[in-house]
Amino acid sequence: MFKQINIIIGIIFLFISGIAIYEIYGSGRVLSVAEMNQKHLDVMMVGNEISSYVKRAEGHLFLYLMNGNQADKDKFYLRMKSLNEHIAEVKGKIKKEEFSALSELYTNVMKAGNRLVYLREKNSEENKSFDFDLHQKKIEYFHSVSSEIRKNGVSLVEQSSTELSKKINIVKENVERERWVIFIFIFILFVLFVYVVKQSRHLNTLTKELRRYSYIDGLTGIANRRAFDETLAKEWKRAIRDKSQIVIMMVDIDFFKQYNDRYGHAEGDECLIKVANALKACLRRPSDMIARYGGEEFIIILPDTKDAMVMAENFRITIEALAIPNQDSEITNVLTITIGVGIFSPVEELNSIEVLRMVDQALYKGKNRGRNNTTLYENKE
Ligand code: GH3
Ligand code: MG
Ligand code: MG
Repeated sequence: MFKQINIIIGIIFLFISGIAIYEIYGSGRVLSVAEMNQKHLDVMMVGNEISSYVKRAEGHLFLYLMNGNQADKDKFYLRMKSLNEHIAEVKGKIKKEEFSALSELYTNVMKAGNRLVYLREKNSEENKSFDFDLHQKKIEYFHSVSSEIRKNGVSLVEQSSTELSKKINIVKENVERERWVIFIFIFILFVLFVYVVKQSRHLNTLTKELRRYSYIDGLTGIANRRAFDETLAKEWKRAIRDKSQIVIMMVDIDFFKQYNDRYGHAEGDECLIKVANALKACLRRPSDMIARYGGEEFIIILPDTKDAMVMAENFRITIEALAIPNQDSEITNVLTITIGVGIFSPVEELNSIEVLRMVDQALYKGKNRGRNNTTLYENKE
């Protein structure tokens, strides 16, 4: 029983830990997906910013080249500074070579821009406007490196978004697969659980049956001495509570040794079965009980019974009337019994051992009086 409980507890534990592992694992993965997500989103955002700042810086630079306004020059440098900061943000989030390409491009854009600014400043000092035709090559170079860096920004956005959706798809597939694994795991646990419960029920029935057998006399099929002891203890308490009487009878077959000697041990066993059944059939109430006390002795409990001696006489006559031949009996030629009877009004102080001793005394007296009789225990004190 305890073993079964342990197994059940073990299975429940496994079950709970399975779910716990799944939960922990699952939440860990959600976290990693979230982290991954964040990284890609950062890169996408910075990619966008890069291309937009380059465009704005370029715009301010051309305005400056055209009109020589200090404010436009400042704005150009301000945008370039922001661009640089944004590039620094993706360090570690994109491939090394991508990052160094970006940094190199930035340097080139900055250098090309600086050169154009320098030329414009010189023109301003000489009070000349900027000659676009003259510097066409330099402008084209600036334009080409700045569109290169813009393209890089856009490709960062595209790369990140395709990579992210790829990774999310892989995670989705994994989750789907794991869901099945967990489902099967839970199902197996459930089957195991049902099996164990079934087994433990089966064991319970077996245990009950075993206990029942351990209260039954193997030969006669009536209650055994153990059952008698327990019933007596129970009835004794009940009688104290109800202030009622208990009748206890000790039945002993007369000259049974002679019976065995003459008819054989097997016949003796048969005889014991017959006597047990006949006595049992004489009981009137469900609370009446007969048990085999040992060898060829039986003991009977009749709770709350008034006509004890009439009952005892009935038992005796019943056995005599079976007319089982016992040729070697010294008093008659059929099998007979002697009965010792005790009528008790139970009190706490009187224990069952004393009670049985008293009934046994009555039986002994009956034997001495010549057997095949009923004798009531009398307290001489
Ligand atoms: P009494 O009239 O004084 O009771 O004499 P008795 O011969 O019945 O008493 P005793 O105690 O001398 O002998 C009891 C006999 O019962 C001894 C034994 O061979 C027999 N016996 C005890 N248990 C069993 C049993 O299970 N089967 C059989 N066949 N015989 C048993
Ligand atoms: Mg005996
Ligand atoms: Mg006997």
